Amino acid sequence: MAERADVLVIGGGLAGISAALELQRLGRRVLVIEQGATLGGKANSTDTKVGSFPTGPTSFNGRYPAFWRLFDLLGISDEATKLRPVSSSRFIVRDGKLNALRPNPFSVIGTGALSLGDKWALAKEFISPSPAKSDGTDESLETLLVRRFGQKTVDHFLSAVMTGIFAGDLKKLSAQACMPALVTAEKEYGSVLKGALKAMKAAPADGSRPGLYTFAKGFGLVGVKAAQQLPCSLETELETLTVDARGVTATGQRQGQQVDFSADSVVIATEADVAAKLLQRSMPAAAAVLGEFEYAPVTLVQWAEKTPGDSKLPLGFGYLTAPIESLFALGTLFVGDLLEESPRRFSTFIGGALNPARAAMTDSELVAGAQSDLSKLTGGVIGQVMQVIRWPRAVFQPAVGHATQLARLERALSGGRVALAGSYFGGAAMKDALVSGFGAAEKLIRPLSPTLSPAGERENVVAAS
Ligand SMILES: Cc1cc2nc3c(=O)[nH]c(=O)nc-3n(C[C@H](O)[C@H](O)[C@H](O)COP(=O)(O)OP(=O)(O)OC[C@H]3O[C@@H](n4cnc5c(N)ncnc54)[C@H](O)[C@@H]3O)c2cc1C
Repeated sequence: MAERADVLVIGGGLAGISAALELQRLGRRVLVIEQGATLGGKANSTDTKVGSFPTGPTSFNGRYPAFWRLFDLLGISDEATKLRPVSSSRFIVRDGKLNALRPNPFSVIGTGALSLGDKWALAKEFISPSPAKSDGTDESLETLLVRRFGQKTVDHFLSAVMTGIFAGDLKKLSAQACMPALVTAEKEYGSVLKGALKAMKAAPADGSRPGLYTFAKGFGLVGVKAAQQLPCSLETELETLTVDARGVTATGQRQGQQVDFSADSVVIATEADVAAKLLQRSMPAAAAVLGEFEYAPVTLVQWAEKTPGDSKLPLGFGYLTAPIESLFALGTLFVGDLLEESPRRFSTFIGGALNPARAAMTDSELVAGAQSDLSKLTGGVIGQVMQVIRWPRAVFQPAVGHATQLARLERALSGGRVALAGSYFGGAAMKDALVSGFGAAEKLIRPLSPTLSPAGERENVVAAS
């Protein structure tokens, strides 16, 4: 007999968890189907004998209310801990050296992360506003940044900063999807730096708590708490999905056995390519759009100091490198420093959209590459390697024209029984996954609302944005 719920939620990452909790809060019987052994998806952590390592994100920005909305539902907001002040130092590799960058104007003036030319380019962008692109169409992140700051500043500095967010190819990434605030700031003030400063001074949004936070117990806490509150079918890979006027039926594999599911509606909160596969039969036009979406692969080498100080890395949040530096890795996060824990623990990021083959190297090649970078940068050693984590689809890459793709996706979804959620509805970040998850739940519920106009009901769809 099929396992039944009002709504099936396929995929138990942040998007699926937020959708499921919201649907449950609104009185729906949900069932989360997750192929992994735990909920949380990429936002997770593993415990090792030297402490916890994040498998994906390390910290979150409390200015986004969606985090607190989720953590309140899970009852863990009070467990979020602000990062220690030491982690406010970030490092950028320039000409083979680590250069500190702290969040104050004097640091920006003094840092070797920026050349004199870069500092002048930043000052000019701030002091003498210039008009935004006139036709209002999307463009690549590189085109926007080069127009504002010049090619050299992008190649040596900004591409390192962006690598830390997207691990992507700036020539392909959409400025509008990845950095909407910069696009708006350029339009409003003729200067993205002026816009950034205004945003920093603006009153925090309702429900936000400024600052960077993490969980001392690791991000795994989110999945553990979610699994306690939500009915879920773990270690279940969903393989087929049929959506028609009668409802939703699905089949999957759980511990080698076929399992059947049925429901009135479904939230698909997997990576886009899995969603494409599942929708191929029932909604081929939507599947075609989802099939266009791409992710960058990233592999993490996670390691710890064996003897205090043997990494010779300074204390801080981590370092990033620009592709022009020709180092092996994209950068290293100093995960143990966020809460000043010992032994010091590190997570070295390798691969990304510009180097996908590197992410697929063997463990020993990856460790050798990470060690080679460390030798060049500090002369230190990787004391003990704790684990290697592979994400073939780590970070979503919103391409130029992403908004148009999303509009096509929304049009292609029909019938009001399917909602989609995932970081591909925004700029690839956790907050995008959360906002899309809450949005998917609301949109799925909306057709039942008596306050909607008939036109709204006809459209009763579904792609969360
Ligand atoms: C190394 C790394 C570092 C990151 N750092 C940051 C950061 O600092 N800040 C930030 O904002 N974001 C960061 N991100 C991105 C962030 O992790 C994601 O945006 C977010 O976690 C995506 O959540 P999601 O629910 O959309 O997808 P996922 O977490 O990918 O969840 C999808 C879920 O679907 C499940 N699934 C897939 N197929 C099936 C199937 N057939 N049947 C059942 N289940 C299935 C998967 O197992 C998974 O649990 C990072 C990502 C990585 C990999």
